[in-house]
Amino acid sequence: MGFIIRGVVILIIFAFVVYVFKAIARLTHHMRGTVRDVRTLRDQIAGRGTVNEEMVRCVNCGAFVASRDALTVSARNSSRTFCSQECVSARVQNR
Ligand SMILES: [Zn+2]
Repeated sequence: MGFIIRGVVILIIFAFVVYVFKAIARLTHHMRGTVRDVRTLRDQIAGRGTVNEEMVRCVNCGAFVASRDALTVSARNSSRTFCSQECVSARVQNR
């Protein structure tokens, strides 16, 4: 009789432990998702920052311009970056 009760108690403890582990796993998964969200958000903010700070050099006058403002002209197998349309024209005329 005592053996059966002990077995049931062990079974209940085991079930409880499994339940707790599942709860912890779910919580960690949820936490991981939150951390991922925060990281993505931080990357987006940082990415926006680096896009603003990312400077490319004009091959004609040597001025540094933000990559989003730069004009990129693709030649045969190389691409050249210019700060303005004037520089593109000047470069083309010099050739
Ligand atoms: Zn230029």
